Amino acid sequence: MHTELDRCQGKWNYCLIHVFVHNVGAGLDIRINDATTLEEFESIDFDYRDFRTFTVEQVALLKPQEHVGKIKAKVVWLQDCSVPAIAHGKLLKLKECHVADPTRKIRLQLWEGCIGQVEKDESYVLENLSVRERGELYLTSTKDTTIRVSEEKVQVPELILRQQLEVKQHKQEQEVEQEVLTTVQGPVCGVKLADQRQCSSCHKGQLAFNLTAISHRCEACGFCQRVGSYVQAVNGTVWVNEGDVKLPLTLTSTVLMTYLSQNDLQELFADVRLVEEHFFEVGVFENQYNANNVVVIVTTGNV
Ligand SMILES: [Zn+2]
Repeated sequence: MHTELDRCQGKWNYCLIHVFVHNVGAGLDIRINDATTLEEFESIDFDYRDFRTFTVEQVALLKPQEHVGKIKAKVVWLQDCSVPAIAHGKLLKLKECHVADPTRKIRLQLWEGCIGQVEKDESYVLENLSVRERGELYLTSTKDTTIRVSEEKVQVPELILRQQLEVKQHKQEQEVEQEVLTTVQGPVCGVKLADQRQCSSCHKGQLAFNLTAISHRCEACGFCQRVGSYVQAVNGTVWVNEGDVKLPLTLTSTVLMTYLSQNDLQELFADVRLVEEHFFEVGVFENQYNANNVVVIVTTGNV
């Protein structure tokens, strides 16, 4: 069989007879054995260059975790800013977009390096994506994803442009928008931050954590995981002077991380005292906080 396969290298018109199809979770594997034979074909009626290209409609028929070799699609909606999100126990940047082709529209999550590679209304060839499901099926970039501008512009019919996606997500976004935020701009008079490890399963901070151990059992949910699976989380309280009042505001890890990454200060995250010092160095901050005194957006007041 090997010599036969060597013989047909570089040629395409062959047919494998008697193969075994295995479902390996992330897709299908075709396996051959001694019973498999090769037969030459005059011509085969498909373009092998397009053999991995899916339409968005075909993607929508896949199952979660399945691999998508290639799609050609237009970005019809793009989230304004990236948001911090936890994946595989790490805090990463995430940006959502909607991509469409003549057949359908679908959500696509772009992670880290993929984020800066797309613009709205541009057509792209996206390779090595994966399918996920939360409520409905969507696409996500993977560590192997490549994105390049498509020479051929993808046409998206008006009907598909208007197709509604992620009804659930829209509801959540509206709830956030309706949340009443108060803005305070003033000098920081105190800050107390704590560096904790957070369970990647229930997101609860751990009071006692031994970095040199192999595993750790979550104090909240009891789930035992490798020490490396716990995400570093810096959170605490900042006191801002507002007239005569010392206003205590809660800083969550997500908000802090967003602030630091927007100001290119991620390295401060390594030492909680450096973050605290930074607050005094900058001095004046603008904080937008909700009814529970939890800061939602923090920017330096000097801007
Ligand atoms: Zn937990």
